[in-house]
Amino acid sequence: MKIDIISVVPQLMESFFAHSILRRAKDKALLEVNTINLRDYTTYKHGQIDDYQFGGGAGLVMMVEPLVNAIESLQKQKKYDEIIFLTPDGENFNQKMANTLSLKENLLFICGHYKGIDQRVRDHYITREVSIGDYVLSGGEIAAAVLVDAIGRLIPGVLNDETSALTDSFQDGLLAPPVYTRPQEFLGWKVPDILLSGDPVKIDEWRHEQAIERTKIRRPGLDEA
Ligand code: SAM
Repeated sequence: MKIDIISVVPQLMESFFAHSILRRAKDKALLEVNTINLRDYTTYKHGQIDDYQFGGGAGLVMMVEPLVNAIESLQKQKKYDEIIFLTPDGENFNQKMANTLSLKENLLFICGHYKGIDQRVRDHYITREVSIGDYVLSGGEIAAAVLVDAIGRLIPGVLNDETSALTDSFQDGLLAPPVYTRPQEFLGWKVPDILLSGDPVKIDEWRHEQAIERTKIRRPGLDEA
């Protein structure tokens, strides 16, 4: 999979992509993430990419032309399955969307700044608008990094054990059950006996019950979402 990200501050994401699980995905040639500096595509003086809003009001808007130049130049090199604008008024990102996007080959993300991007880019190029939550960030870079991480770890081969992602929260409409590791007892706090029983069927049943219980308490209705 290839993910290109247009940003005015690409360096914000570079260290994130150079480490963590994404580094492993890159080393295994399963995921390639490229950051593109929007200022390389402006024809305005001093790398200008934003301007005042028509109609007045506080906050600058990212101009249509540099964004269109960047998108069209990238589109000459590959066909994107989705061109995604990260924006607080978009569709809420969730595990289901991460699963869907992990099956795509080429994605393009656009990170906004200031008041956002000129609406004409949204009208003519964007195929999907995605929010990572009901709050406002200063820029789309952190949101883009969230999507890349959540999508990247679902690509087969990225995690050492692929089944791990399948047993995480939200995959089957449930939160994940509690997990334990060594030692078996610490300060008198014991690991549940069932996990030490060596009976895989019973352990699976216990985990499923725990997942249901946890979901009922913390996220009632999650399985209907
Ligand atoms: N004026 C915009 C609004 O009220 O919807 C907010 C602009 S915000 C300050 C600047 C940029 O940060 C946005 O264009 C978007 O790319 C990014 N951003 C902010 N919050 C986000 C969120 N919850 N999810 C995804 N992207 C977000």
